[in-house]
Amino acid sequence: MSETEMYDLIIIGGGPGGLTAGIYAMRAALKTLLIEMGSPGGQVNNSDSVENWPGDEHIGGAELSMKFSQHAQSYGLEIRSAEVTELKPGQDYHTIKLADGSTLGAYAVILATGGHPRKLKVPGEDQLYGQGVSYCAVCDGFFFRDKTVVVVGGGDAAVEESLYLAKLAKQVYIVHRRDELRAGAILQQRIKAECNVEILWNSVVTAIKADISGVCAVDLKDTQTGEQRELATDGVFIFIGFEPNNKLVPAGTKMSANGYVITDDKCETNNPGIFAIGDLREKYAKQIILAAADGCTAALAASHYVENLKASDACEMPEEINDTLSN
Ligand code: NAP
Repeated sequence: MSETEMYDLIIIGGGPGGLTAGIYAMRAALKTLLIEMGSPGGQVNNSDSVENWPGDEHIGGAELSMKFSQHAQSYGLEIRSAEVTELKPGQDYHTIKLADGSTLGAYAVILATGGHPRKLKVPGEDQLYGQGVSYCAVCDGFFFRDKTVVVVGGGDAAVEESLYLAKLAKQVYIVHRRDELRAGAILQQRIKAECNVEILWNSVVTAIKADISGVCAVDLKDTQTGEQRELATDGVFIFIGFEPNNKLVPAGTKMSANGYVITDDKCETNNPGIFAIGDLREKYAKQIILAAADGCTAALAASHYVENLKASDACEMPEEINDTLSN
């Protein structure tokens, strides 16, 4: 029988929440592994500038991610690049399967898998992804220098990314389905002051069109009058919200109707010893600082959980597992 590699705590996901959990877990002397599929930092890596992280008036998203990661690693946090395919809750410990076929065990697990951009679901969107359709201005804005772009959405992300694109593109059109932005007041003031940004109110994109060189236009519909028209553009950036990466959440876990994990105030799910944090967790707002705060809460709670579990009779580990933990 192959031996299960055993940890006190496994954190799945290396964004601000996961890395903060890693810092607190290492300080609590838990044998901890953080598993991340891409590069540590998560979505923050795609932000041009972060302006609401206390202590840093302006900091690049990639730089902030790097600082989180370096801080966690300064405590010796083990970070492994791997894909988790399954999380199976257990009574004594939880089992994590990796895409390479290996299996890990942990007394406590923190799910910090974040989310992904919501799709507009209009004709042309999938086919033209990478040929003018994008979900990341910092990644792709460069290709639209002195060109025209359409940004879809009216929230913080749409406005923040439009501000970034306004520095590069000749013209930015924000297409928003209502007559009022959802974005915060400061962002609204800034975007309205940009002379190459026009907001097309009460409008939705119904199709994205292309010629041989990629995106060339969008079809727009007025949500009040139903009137349709075509708008020429070189690119379409879609920022209409976010969907949680909840594929690894075990069956039977309490979730909201829109797929976020419901936890208690310790960030613990209804599966004892399994925690959910950051953008995966149902809560009022999604912010870097809130993901980090969740990471702290969950790691402290996981530390108590592991301590209690180890002290209880319920934690009669097979010998080979106890051996891997003490290594
Ligand atoms: P969001 O706040 O949910 O905004 C989504 C926007 O897209 C809304 O304006 C919404 O319109 C529009 N929308 C949704 N579905 C649509 C559809 N099918 N067609 C057209 N428009 C659609 O999402 P977000 O901007 O990605 O932000 C997500 C979270 O991250 C928020 O909590 C936000 O505060 C946070 N965030 C914060 C910052 C920051 O603090 N600097 C930056 C980025 C994100 P309606 O307004 O009509 O609903």
